[in-house]
Amino acid sequence: VSDLVIVHLYPRLLRTYGDRGNVLALKRRAEWRGFRVRVDEVSIGERLPRDAGLILLGGGTDRVQEIVGKDLAARRDELAEAAQGGTVVLGICGGYQFLGTRYVMPDGGEIDGLSLLDVETRATERRIIGRVRARGALWGEAFDLVGFENHGGRTTLGASVQPLASVSRRHGNNGRDGTEGAVRATVVGTYLHGPVLAVNPVLTDTLLARALFPLNGNEPLGALPDAEERLAHADAARRVREEHRAKKRSMLVAASLIALSLAFGGPRAAREIDDDDGGRGDRVAPAAVVERPLMIPYDLARTAEITGTSRSSAGPRR
Ligand code: GLN
Repeated sequence: VSDLVIVHLYPRLLRTYGDRGNVLALKRRAEWRGFRVRVDEVSIGERLPRDAGLILLGGGTDRVQEIVGKDLAARRDELAEAAQGGTVVLGICGGYQFLGTRYVMPDGGEIDGLSLLDVETRATERRIIGRVRARGALWGEAFDLVGFENHGGRTTLGASVQPLASVSRRHGNNGRDGTEGAVRATVVGTYLHGPVLAVNPVLTDTLLARALFPLNGNEPLGALPDAEERLAHADAARRVREEHRAKKRSMLVAASLIALSLAFGGPRAAREIDDDDGGRGDRVAPAAVVERPLMIPYDLARTAEITGTSRSSAGPRR
């Protein structure tokens, strides 16, 4: 007999950036405290056990989501029943999108979600890519969150869900409202990879405590010697800061280049036009004004490329 059954759904299909590490983190942290854990891997067409304490769905590309979507649709009632009964359901990135009502793909095709969370996702051409540091809150527990996100989908939250965390406005659910992830009762979604649970032990323990509630009640989980986990967390946070600084630096360089080209390029261009014009001064200024804006969009596009505010040169994952 086991104290906790973890169901890993589609482990060989939904597994972006080593999402399997989330299952390992949960299992180990429970076992270190003396709980007996069983992990059931459930793939397409396989039966879902009835005694799951926690169900996990990892991330995947749009193509994989299309494949998994059909199988998942057949499990809608069963999963809703489990969540209603208090089973913790965790979705990461593509898995998070599945927890919502639907995912609209770039070609307009739709994948129906499980509707466990009142969120909806629409794909865009510009992906949100980068390391993230966020302030998280879950079931009365507050914590620092670190992770990595890479998604084309923009997720909007409905009225019945709470965000899992707050982030800067370039990141998270939609790059607009400063929210990351979503929570409703025991259903939790996040865009963060890492694997996120390996580097965020407080989040992991919060999920574990909830999944163990039927057995353990409100008994707090014993503390673990978390020196290495804390180091991993701090290292991930340091890399967020470094990435942020590098972006700021290249933005500054690009802005200086624009300013320089405006300061020196402007008069020279005006002189050249002036010469071409045979020295008719009255037409110089308007021509120069027309010339300058033509250069600015190019420079801005470069800035976006350098700073990663547009599509990454690393190539999209979808
Ligand atoms: N395909 C989805 C998107 O790009 C999810 C990606 C992922 O799971 N990393 O929005």
